[in-house]
Amino acid sequence: MNEIEKKINDLREQLRYHSDRYYNDDAPEIEDYQYDMMMRELKALEEKYPEYDSIDSPTKRVGGKADNSFESVAHTVRMESLQDAFSKEELFDFDKRVNEGAGAAAYVVEPKIDGLSVSLEYVNGEFFRGSTRGDGDVGEDVSGNLRVIHNVPLKLNKPVPYIEVRGEVYMPKKSFERVVDRQLLNDEKPFKNPRNAAAGSLRQKDSKVTATRGLDIFVFNVQQLEGEELTSHKQSLDYLNELGFNTIPFYNRVNSIQEAVDCIDEIGEKRGELEFDIDGAVIKVDDFSKRELLGSTSKFPKWAVAFKYPPEEKQTKLIDIEITVGRTGVLTPTAVLESVHLAGTTVSRATLHNQDFINEKGVNIGDIVTVRKAGDIIPEVLCVNEKHSEGAFVYPEICPSCGEKVVREEDEAAIRCINPECPAQLLRNLIHFCSRDAMDIEGLGPSIIETFVNEGMIKKTPDIFNLDKEKIATLEGFKETSANNIINSVEKSKQNDLSKLIFALGIRHIGEKAAKLLSDEFKNIDAIMDATAEDILEIEGYGKIMAQAVVDFFKTQSAKELVEELKAAGVNTKSKTVIKDNRFEGKTFVLTGTLESYKRSEASKIIESFGGKTSSSVSKKTDFVLAGAEAGSKLDKANALSVRVISEEEFGEMIR
Ligand code: NAD
Repeated sequence: MNEIEKKINDLREQLRYHSDRYYNDDAPEIEDYQYDMMMRELKALEEKYPEYDSIDSPTKRVGGKADNSFESVAHTVRMESLQDAFSKEELFDFDKRVNEGAGAAAYVVEPKIDGLSVSLEYVNGEFFRGSTRGDGDVGEDVSGNLRVIHNVPLKLNKPVPYIEVRGEVYMPKKSFERVVDRQLLNDEKPFKNPRNAAAGSLRQKDSKVTATRGLDIFVFNVQQLEGEELTSHKQSLDYLNELGFNTIPFYNRVNSIQEAVDCIDEIGEKRGELEFDIDGAVIKVDDFSKRELLGSTSKFPKWAVAFKYPPEEKQTKLIDIEITVGRTGVLTPTAVLESVHLAGTTVSRATLHNQDFINEKGVNIGDIVTVRKAGDIIPEVLCVNEKHSEGAFVYPEICPSCGEKVVREEDEAAIRCINPECPAQLLRNLIHFCSRDAMDIEGLGPSIIETFVNEGMIKKTPDIFNLDKEKIATLEGFKETSANNIINSVEKSKQNDLSKLIFALGIRHIGEKAAKLLSDEFKNIDAIMDATAEDILEIEGYGKIMAQAVVDFFKTQSAKELVEELKAAGVNTKSKTVIKDNRFEGKTFVLTGTLESYKRSEASKIIESFGGKTSSSVSKKTDFVLAGAEAGSKLDKANALSVRVISEEEFGEMIR
């Protein structure tokens, strides 16, 4: 293999890898810009050396694969990608190609929303189905999750016989900040940017989770339509508005490429102030008959181009490094910066991830550093430009909150404070304990909890259940009603299911789902506390680390005291889930002879309540024949077919 072929193969392999991380795991490892530049290099090489071109190349493919955890949806109209441009010259070249192919054209310019593409279908004006783009031909049916997005209309303003539209589901910046705050609070790996957060949230198995993520949608295209004739893009956007869709904002129809470029600059200036992320602007030929003339490649239409804004980077002085302590004691470093204007926002803080990252960059207080904000809301320190300090910053050896020695566990990048009484951890634990997915104590949000902690009203978790209404009402900003509301929601939370309490305890590695499994399996907290790691490992979905984390948590004296105090305060520690007993699932019974203890109809009801079926004739498929006195031919047949015959006593045992 020669050098060129090797380079091409290498680029294809890297692009495939990163495409998989991005589309299928929603967790990119490199910046979009880096990815785009690799893609460009590959495209250029394939054009220059067509002998190595391949239909399998990432340059010819759209997006990711449909995940088999959702039903597949074949798209009647292919959901194409867009050709990209990184310079104004490329936009003028695009205009030239359009002119050659279809004559002078008017364009519509729109912001390019950084989310994920979906198709929405409506029959007689009613929402019928929604799916992701997938590889452009086959996507995933995510109807349930789309239904919970407020701006996905379930009924259109007109009963159009059939319409399929295309839009971009995105996570507004505010929702993203809220979701990430929550993830950081729980020491979970935060989403890297709003696009990945939107994709991860839309592909949730549980729409209830999707509903908490504050997703939104902009619709920008009519894919298919029956009962109406549209001739231009501008007309179709106006039509989508009429139907009640939230259409792409500030679209603009212009008559020349120069005007289109001016619009792109205008959108670029607005970029940082928008409520949502955009990664570019799209120029589209307006007239549908001209679009027909221009056609498409295997990957994108030739009548549209996406201009991608370059990532913004700036140099600034790093004036301090702050260390905060998370709920599980993890120390997190944040760079405090001399403020700079970056991608439309003022940046004064940036993430430094962990000690390894700091070492790798060699960064310390006083240095001039480059910060980058590329689509991501949390800016990152990219590199050191001028060194004004000795070496790299080193984490303190003691916890900045409680002063106890911190530890770094083997194979972990994180350094943590393991003092269970650390005040920073107490606060974080309390915030988690009261949060919506945990004990759901309405009114006890982070700042109020902080006030109560500062006032000495909460020194440990059970104190939440002994708050003094009169004392609350005397605090600044509180009245009798607000104090009452808090006490009422605290009272209400005492009746929560055990699974919420288990999640609220903040046991390492035990998320909401694991808490539910544990609670369903052991039914009450005492049984969980008595369980060994082996017992817990019996639960499907539990691994060794999780099981051990539960055992380690409950064996500490502080956990035992905590549980006792919660019980004393009247907090429910039992599972409320009624588990349906399906012990006869898939089993068929035949009843014969005279039963002494039950009427036949009663016995049938019992069998059905346990998920079984009754039949009137015996066959090879019969599992049990319940034979009473004077059983006749059915009993003979059961014996002939070797079907198991049971007596009333045996049946009694089986249902006990
Ligand atoms: P694209 O994102 O460049 O463009 C096509 C998409 O733009 C469409 O699917 C459409 O949904 C969306 N869009 C938003 N607003 C639109 C509008 N107004 N009109 C039309 N379309 C609009 O192309 P792509 O094929 O989805 O993916 C490529 C992108 O994904 C690149 O930006 C690339 O950097 C990124 N990516 C990054 C990585 C990584 O590792 N960082 C990996 C793979 C892909």
